[in-house]
Amino acid sequence: MIDTTCPTWCAGVQCQEELPEDRHHQSEPDQMVIRIRDRDGHPVNAEVDLVATLEDELWIWMGTADRQGLEITVGSARYLHTRLGVLIEKLGW
Ligand SMILES: [Zn+2]
Repeated sequence: MIDTTCPTWCAGVQCQEELPEDRHHQSEPDQMVIRIRDRDGHPVNAEVDLVATLEDELWIWMGTADRQGLEITVGSARYLHTRLGVLIEKLGW
């Protein structure tokens, strides 16, 4: 059973599911286009959703509509953010 009080960022949709086990707080998706590799290793553009989900803990999902993607905890997302910042600084951007 989830806490029925929505966090400020919750879109208020997924937490209204009929079945309790399907309920969780979820943000509005933020779309972006990234480059991924197809099965043959060729680069292709893919539209992905960036979504926060509160279930057993706070997760960040980045993936395609067919559910291919990456889901990490908000702590791991913060660490990734820091590491990407260090890499970008090294690149001089
Ligand atoms: Zn909610």
